[in-house]
Amino acid sequence: MEAPSTTRIAAGFIAAFVLLTVNAAVSYVTLDKLVAANRLVAQTEQTLKLLGELRAGLVDAEAGQRGYIITGEESYLESYLSARPVTAAKLQELARLTADDPEQSARVALLEPLIGKKFEDLSGAIAARRGQGMQAAAALVQGDQGKMLMDRIRRIVGEIQNKEEVLLALRTAESEFNAYITIVTYAVATFLNICLFGGICFMVIRGAVARRKLAVVERESNEKVARSLAEVQVRNQEITFLSQMSSFLQTCATSEEACTAIARFGPQLFPTEIGVIYLFHASRNYVEPAASWGGANPHEDMFQPSDCWALRRGRLHAVGEKDTAMVCEHVARNGGTLQPYICAPMTAQGETLGLLYLQSQPATGDAAPLSEARQQLGAAVAEQIALALANLRLRETLRQQSVRDPLTGLYNRRFLEETLGRELSRLERKNLPLSLIMIDVDHFKSFNDTFGHEAGDAVLRDLGGILQRYVRGSDIACRYGGEEFTIILPEADIDIGRQRAEMLREATRELRLIHDGKSLGAVTLSLGVACFPDHGRLREHLLQAADAALYEAKNAGRNCVVVSSIKTLKVVESPQQRDQAGR
Ligand code: GH3
Ligand code: MG
Ligand code: MG
Repeated sequence: MEAPSTTRIAAGFIAAFVLLTVNAAVSYVTLDKLVAANRLVAQTEQTLKLLGELRAGLVDAEAGQRGYIITGEESYLESYLSARPVTAAKLQELARLTADDPEQSARVALLEPLIGKKFEDLSGAIAARRGQGMQAAAALVQGDQGKMLMDRIRRIVGEIQNKEEVLLALRTAESEFNAYITIVTYAVATFLNICLFGGICFMVIRGAVARRKLAVVERESNEKVARSLAEVQVRNQEITFLSQMSSFLQTCATSEEACTAIARFGPQLFPTEIGVIYLFHASRNYVEPAASWGGANPHEDMFQPSDCWALRRGRLHAVGEKDTAMVCEHVARNGGTLQPYICAPMTAQGETLGLLYLQSQPATGDAAPLSEARQQLGAAVAEQIALALANLRLRETLRQQSVRDPLTGLYNRRFLEETLGRELSRLERKNLPLSLIMIDVDHFKSFNDTFGHEAGDAVLRDLGGILQRYVRGSDIACRYGGEEFTIILPEADIDIGRQRAEMLREATRELRLIHDGKSLGAVTLSLGVACFPDHGRLREHLLQAADAALYEAKNAGRNCVVVSSIKTLKVVESPQQRDQAGR
């Protein structure tokens, strides 16, 4: 509803004022007419009353005169005596009342001398009674003059009376008409006033209602803006947490570190949800929890990917409180009351790495399904975690590729050289020895020639396996290049080095290699062993010493172990080189 404008309300009030003024004026005029008509009616009635009293006064005066004449009692004259001045006053009043009517005025003017004459006639008879006795007075009374006077007076009074009665009828009718007009005017004015009042009330009420509605709309819109602002603030906070978590995840070196960061930021991103991060096991047969927050993991520790709709469909799966139709098996299996949850697959670079599970868990009341915004945040977080984990895996793969030999799985030569230098520095500080075994496969070329390059590769792979099996956790087995291998044995002296070399030689000799169903025959190794610090203090010298010993083993007929000695050493560390190394 639109609120009436101030101009319209002002126009309404002006119209009301004008109408009320007109009402008042019309009412005043009709009332004035009514009053005037009533006054005329009253005047006529007064005139008729005066005429009656005048006649009665004359009759009383005549009766008093007759009584006195008959009885001689002075008391009879009282009515006569009092009637005279009263009659004069009434005549005067009558003259005043009929002054506005010339015809009636003329009649009243005729009455005055006649009444005067009548009183003179009466007083003449009274005087005769007093002076000459009753006979003389009776003779005067019986004369025609008194009767004639009285008849004329009666006639004139009757004329005045007739005219006044006609006037009374006319004026009464006029007064009634005026009263009717006044009533109608009042009724119309009252009706108009009521309409006007109603109209103004309607406008004012409509304005108030419209203003109230407007206020409600304004309040609602303000609340909406406030809600939107609060939501924006929450979104901003979430984005901040998400970018902080992403930044931490980017700098994590291992998946374990990444999981610690996820568990740290999870409660900030999802304070009202239980969260669990499941990661695929290397076998990809099942997923297992790697991080959680918001309480204990509500479900079993691990489950098969086929138990989760999100993993099966490769998209976010949301389940509400009463939405029991498509509940994931890993959730349903747990039993208990179903809480709303979402499963968001963590996919990056086309590979699904795991699952983000979020279960609604409000502080109070029933758990509500996760809102669209929470689901979107869940999907974004899952994506970020997946990207970070994929990144970590890629880095790990690249690192592996950069230090591992792809054929044998052993460390490569670059790694060997880096590690050897580091280990030598460490062991020198601790004053501990280190043994280095250099290995070369005997007559490997003929292997290739006889059985083919692939068979040669298979031999190298098997040899790699043996080397890994025969070294301890702290030892480092490397493929030095081609069919040559190196083993670093930190903290092992020359005797241990030689023993280990012998063990390897024996183990290899006993190896019966089969490739493509064909026996490849026996493989033998030649091994040279050198020891830090006895046969060299620098990395290059130690390698050269071991290599020289290996060369000696080849010369000695192969399939044997030779320990470095003065004899085998072709390159001896000079005092200058020692100085350069700072030792
Ligand atoms: P010996 O060491 O006993 O003196 O004889 P040898 O035949 O082993 O020595 P040589 O150095 O002449 O030959 C090494 C051969 O190893 C040459 C090359 O064809 C082979 N070889 C090197 N790397 C690989 C590889 O990665 N795969 C295969 N199949 N053969 C390789
Ligand atoms: Mg060789
Ligand atoms: Mg060889």
